[in-house]
Amino acid sequence: MIEELVQEKILDTYTARTTKSKDLWEEARKVIPGGVGSGFRYYEPYPLFLERGIGSKVWDADGNEYLDYCLCFGALIAGHAHPRIVEAVSGQLEKGSMYGVPHEKTTEYVRELLRRFPSMDMFRLTNSGTEGTMHALRLARAHTGKDKIVKIEGCYHGVHDYLLVSIYPPLSKAGPRWAPTVYIQGEGIPHGTVRNTLVAPYNDIETMENLFKKHEGEIAALILEPVPMNMGLVLPKEEYLKDLRKLTEEHNILLIFDEVKTGIRIAAGGACEYYGINPDIVVLGKAIGGGFPVGALGGKEEILSNIYPLGHTPHAGTYNANPIVVSAGLACLKHVMTGHAQRHINDLGERLANGVKDAVEDIGIEAQVPHIGPSGTVYFTDVEVTDYRTASTYDRKKTWEFWFSLLNHGVLTPPGLLEGGEQWLVSAAHTKQDVEEAVHVIDSALREIK
Ligand code: PMP
Repeated sequence: MIEELVQEKILDTYTARTTKSKDLWEEARKVIPGGVGSGFRYYEPYPLFLERGIGSKVWDADGNEYLDYCLCFGALIAGHAHPRIVEAVSGQLEKGSMYGVPHEKTTEYVRELLRRFPSMDMFRLTNSGTEGTMHALRLARAHTGKDKIVKIEGCYHGVHDYLLVSIYPPLSKAGPRWAPTVYIQGEGIPHGTVRNTLVAPYNDIETMENLFKKHEGEIAALILEPVPMNMGLVLPKEEYLKDLRKLTEEHNILLIFDEVKTGIRIAAGGACEYYGINPDIVVLGKAIGGGFPVGALGGKEEILSNIYPLGHTPHAGTYNANPIVVSAGLACLKHVMTGHAQRHINDLGERLANGVKDAVEDIGIEAQVPHIGPSGTVYFTDVEVTDYRTASTYDRKKTWEFWFSLLNHGVLTPPGLLEGGEQWLVSAAHTKQDVEEAVHVIDSALREIK
């Protein structure tokens, strides 16, 4: 119950400011399970309903204004309603929304992705990150002729069955850190489907090596978020990603980087560029669509040529490479997320994280504030966070109080920092003033919850 976690004064302010959201949610929940279109959007006592977004700001149903640092969990790196994206989408709409046959813009878009990810030879587009990782696994299995997949405890790759394990397992059921239980995350997922999914901790090369040896010749791929952003924000230890690359090569296992979040966020070419690693397959999503639903699956030609019609691996979809989405994505990559914009968001991200760190120190709260590029998070814990187990030591009460307090003062971050699993993001539309304002609100919120 949220009332047990958040002081009455903070919760009362939320409910007093958002009465229309409550009414809208009451109506929605009669016809939509939980009143929300995606499970991650729900929180108690009821979620905020937004009505409008422009640039760095959004407005809720009651007319309250917020600086948006959630940005649809990373999809809105350009900010809301960016004029270049609006123009591109409107222009395409007038020529039709879909064709169901190839069109030239997709090639241009994929060339732009390849420019950012030069170690890839080709991309196929999907409609979401979920589809991207699902197809990545199929492709890895087809290419290697092996079935097993290793994932990292605490990483999230979307909602298909194969990887819906050990995302946020209760510690009482998670097994030892060095041999995590394959914990099925929810109901409706047949045990048989995850029989070939193995789980390993992040930032621990030795355990990974032991797992590879134990299943020698059986593992098709290791998939991970190179910088996990679904257990807050965990930075890789020095050399960890390079060591993983070496180890996967030694054991003949494909390395899949799920860059749905890190993608064009931490650098133009994501973690591949930031850490100088060439994985075998890269999955992209969110920000590359400029706010429209997309995913992308990239790899070397020898791997992607397993896909039909070059090979026998199915990959299809009515909405794949939709011209509206491709137009939005192209405008975002070419005209919004320029080198200048990337430096801008990184600079603002640094300012925001430093502001939070200073406030944490001044006020004397136990917290870790890891950040990279335009993103960062606060874990209310005195434990250094290096993996899922250490990330799980955060204080839930402080996390939720902090989040509601920010919201009450006009700063939107992912709900409850999604139970310690999310991070803030600064968009190309944010300004220094937006960040200064946010740091001021964060300082007050930390004082309120201390
Ligand atoms: N991979 C990662 C790393 C993600 O963060 C997400 C979504 N949060 C997904 C995959 C799934 O993407 P989508 O929601 O577009 O299916």
